[in-house]
Amino acid sequence: MNLGEQLCLACGLCCDGTLFDNVQLGAGDDAQKLKALGLPVAVTRGRTAITFFRQPCVALCADRKCRVYADRPGQCRAFECGVFKDAQAGRIAEAAALRLVKSTRKKADAIRQLLRKLGDTDEQRSLGDRFRRTQRRMETGDVDAEAGETFAELGLAVHQFNLLAHDKFYTRVEAAS
Ligand code: SF4
Ligand code: SF4
Repeated sequence: MNLGEQLCLACGLCCDGTLFDNVQLGAGDDAQKLKALGLPVAVTRGRTAITFFRQPCVALCADRKCRVYADRPGQCRAFECGVFKDAQAGRIAEAAALRLVKSTRKKADAIRQLLRKLGDTDEQRSLGDRFRRTQRRMETGDVDAEAGETFAELGLAVHQFNLLAHDKFYTRVEAAS
């Protein structure tokens, strides 16, 4: 197993709803086949229809392998996060890259924990969706002091996570080959 595979199997952040809310399908993707494979492919309404499925991806297995790897969409084929690229190029050592993905997973888990504490237990939605939904609820409802403190903690944790994600993970998605 090469370093990239090791990293992804220790990580899964670009499939489990932590880094992305959804996967958009492109011209080269077979939406019907992906549907037949169990992916909840949907199409947005409006002038420019977008075909997509939500994350956390149902094809992500417990061992973080992709159940539809051979048929995965172009977006999935094309995306390599910054840590992955740095590790492949030797700009970051293997142990440091593994530590980084594991510590980032822990930070995402801590955010999920705070969301649960604030009453959002919907693990089938992306982290971003859950945070935005909780934010709306907290800003429009009656919030007691304890929930207010937890929400402040959540806001800080999400802010710090976003900085880390932009610094180390998000990269431009290259055109799929
Ligand atoms: S975020 Fe990077 S290391 Fe993690 S699974 Fe995706 S490509 Fe692999
Ligand atoms: S189809 Fe596979 S590679 Fe794409 S998001 Fe789902 S688990 Fe990840």
